[in-house]
Amino acid sequence: MNIEQLYRHYLQHPSVQTDTRKLRAGDIFFALRGPNFNGNEYAAAALEAGASLAVIDDPAFDTQPGKTMLFPDALKALQDLALHHRQQLRIPFIAITGTNGKTTTKEMVRTVLGAAFRTHATEGNLNNHIGVPLTILGIPQNAEMAVIEMGANHRGEIAGYCKVALPTHGLITNIGKAHLEGFGSEEGVRLAKGELYDHLRENGGTVFVCKDYPYLVEMSKGIDNIVTYGHEEADYAGAPFPGTALLELEAVEAGHVRTQLVGEYNFPNVMAAIAIGLHFKVPGEVIRKAIEGYTPSNNRSQIVKQGSNTVIMDAYNANPSSMKAAVENFAGLDAKQKVLLLGAMKELGEDSQKEHQALADLLLQSHWKAVVLVGKEFAKVNHPYIYFETAEEARKWLGQQAFADTHILVKGSRSVGMEKVLGS
Ligand code: ATP
Ligand code: MG
Repeated sequence: MNIEQLYRHYLQHPSVQTDTRKLRAGDIFFALRGPNFNGNEYAAAALEAGASLAVIDDPAFDTQPGKTMLFPDALKALQDLALHHRQQLRIPFIAITGTNGKTTTKEMVRTVLGAAFRTHATEGNLNNHIGVPLTILGIPQNAEMAVIEMGANHRGEIAGYCKVALPTHGLITNIGKAHLEGFGSEEGVRLAKGELYDHLRENGGTVFVCKDYPYLVEMSKGIDNIVTYGHEEADYAGAPFPGTALLELEAVEAGHVRTQLVGEYNFPNVMAAIAIGLHFKVPGEVIRKAIEGYTPSNNRSQIVKQGSNTVIMDAYNANPSSMKAAVENFAGLDAKQKVLLLGAMKELGEDSQKEHQALADLLLQSHWKAVVLVGKEFAKVNHPYIYFETAEEARKWLGQQAFADTHILVKGSRSVGMEKVLGS
């Protein structure tokens, strides 16, 4: 079978699914393989559930002629189909990668561009080798803008996604410490994320560069079109107001923007969306309203009121850079008393103990009402704080306290499940 045939089918049935449980009538089912499953085994069930076609890569399951299409590799077929579709779409493709803030930035950009253009963006966090092609295949023919989040935990991944998405515009949010197991070092992270810049350099694309990060300015050298944003001296400049729980900023053309986002570390994320909006001629007033109307989801820097307490729920993920940003932001907040419940940071490989110690040392620099550290990564760290192995124990502890008028920061890697500490 070839991709043109598959594309002709896709034009009639432009929706794609890899999970039979989510399948809707008419979807094209792609039989992908994972470490513990073989999607080919689900092809018949997908067709029974109304799939218009099953793309498979095991001849043993090629049992329904006309209903199945056999390719050497179903994942490769998915990626090739996405590329084919991409090539028919003559619209800006904005790729977003970086260590922290990809989804937040992507959602802000979607919101801002969506106020003026038919905009399609990555759903949720579908930013990997399956999510990127699925995102592209979800773009309708009449879309005017595409925003694609790209995640990576090893070298070569972003370069591969660029070959499928062919971005015309790109943005690296920042480069910090995350997935050090796969990248080896921060330099490894830099090279991996830099693959997006490399693609745009080679193809005459445009990059949006946060001028506050000299390493991004350095890395972007040689790219034809560079648009900068950040504090003063950038093409699109702004400044945050210090001390507020929810980020407020003053920005070029958008004016005084009151966001629903916690943390000054979101300033570059918001400025990125303002810069992209202004670059594409969205009026400043429209941009401001769009940003003010956006509320984060999924435990990403959400504010939860509990009686007289204010909880900053940031249990979606954590790594050394985002943890530092969150703690420093929390330290700078105007509040009567502050409590932290911090979960361990995962995937740090041999740097794990050092990074957890550095976090404990950073905590010592400020005054807190109480600090609770959760997860066995903290067990070998020197610190004067309360320690629990599990979030469940931290939940019980919190239930026994009688905090009032207190700001509480909850953050940790997703697998630690820190959001549980608020459960009753
Ligand atoms: P993932 O790798 O899981 O896709 P992401 O890069 O998409 O993550 P977000 O989901 O936008 O990141 O944000 C996750 C958390 O990262 C936020 O809740 C916040 O704690 C932190 N974060 C967001 N932006 C920044 C930033 N600019 N600097 C430091 N930390 C940030
Ligand atoms: Mg994300």
